[in-house]
Amino acid sequence: MTLPAAASLTRDQTGRLLVAMGHPSYRGDQLRRHLWRGRADGFDAMRDLPARLRAELPAALRWSSLELLGSQAADRGLTDKLLFGTSAGHEVEAVMIAHPGAEGTRARQTVCVSSQAGCAIGCVFCATGRLGLRANLEAEEIVDQVLEASRRWARQGQGSPTNVVYMGMGEPLQNYSAVVDSVRLLHEWGIPLRQVVISTSGMAPEIRRLAGEGLPVRLAISLHAADDELRERLVPLNRRYPISTLIEAAQEFTAKTGRRVSLEYVLIRGVNDDLGSAERLRGLAARVHGHVNLIPMNPIPGSDLRAPGPGACREFAGRVGPRATIRFSRGDRASAACGQLRAALGANSKSERRAAALELALAAPAGGAAAGFNPSPSARS
Ligand code: SF4
Repeated sequence: MTLPAAASLTRDQTGRLLVAMGHPSYRGDQLRRHLWRGRADGFDAMRDLPARLRAELPAALRWSSLELLGSQAADRGLTDKLLFGTSAGHEVEAVMIAHPGAEGTRARQTVCVSSQAGCAIGCVFCATGRLGLRANLEAEEIVDQVLEASRRWARQGQGSPTNVVYMGMGEPLQNYSAVVDSVRLLHEWGIPLRQVVISTSGMAPEIRRLAGEGLPVRLAISLHAADDELRERLVPLNRRYPISTLIEAAQEFTAKTGRRVSLEYVLIRGVNDDLGSAERLRGLAARVHGHVNLIPMNPIPGSDLRAPGPGACREFAGRVGPRATIRFSRGDRASAACGQLRAALGANSKSERRAAALELALAAPAGGAAAGFNPSPSARS
């Protein structure tokens, strides 16, 4: 039988476990302090706990549900990307992102977590989408990404994580129960619900379900195209849930939670960066009263897709209007775009072959290959 991971237990459950083992419940709080901010890398290193308890814990709990396989720092130490292995043999990534504040302080520290190993959605610009879905993560596997990040920041003398964004590998709302459980667990570890962002490629029924959970998290919708014809080719899920359905779900989310949604839009040169798209995007943002984050595309190995130049990005943003902000990915310098650390540390010929196949699909005429599309004649190069 697999032992529960420490990250899967609430504070009360941890205390009750300790009592059942014949120890005072406050030992549970000590244990949780080590897991959240401690320097220990295992039960035996928690020297403020009695030797008997340290010896017993490995038979009752797993220290972590994940194994840290590698890390890659960039951006003068402000970004750190972590590669984990799951017990089922899959690899997932998390990114630690520090946002500088005044006089060397940090305004906030965000952990970007994965919710799945791989992803079934297959967005054409995404490294993870090329893997296909390997596995859903358990709630504790999501929480352990944040705990590892928190301990690393503690060892660096930095503060705790302040924000968690579900924008790593996977479509969070396709792993709905584990993601919602992980949000509740993270709240117990001290992450404010309002500082949690769940990003979805457009799972409209689950957006409505999430609206009824009583969790005032923020919702980000990965739109990437402002009309159904283009979006179906960029985000295949659009065939099930077209833009109008998605907008209605977003409106319901805002009505029930009081939280506005943001629309995420990866800018791809010659594909979705025409000014007609900008005008349509402006209209969609107005319908949800939401903000638009424009993200110039990170290059991915084996693909010729690129971001527009800085001037074209600014022109597009200007046409969307004051609701738009251009956000350059901090992660790209640490191979931190979705699925890229895994590719960098373990590039394999299969993914490269799939990249070549993707390029062929993109070159096919619209209406030909399922994922194929031609850039709009009005698209700028
Ligand atoms: S962008 Fe997100 S939803 Fe789309 S394939 Fe990548 S991980 Fe999946």
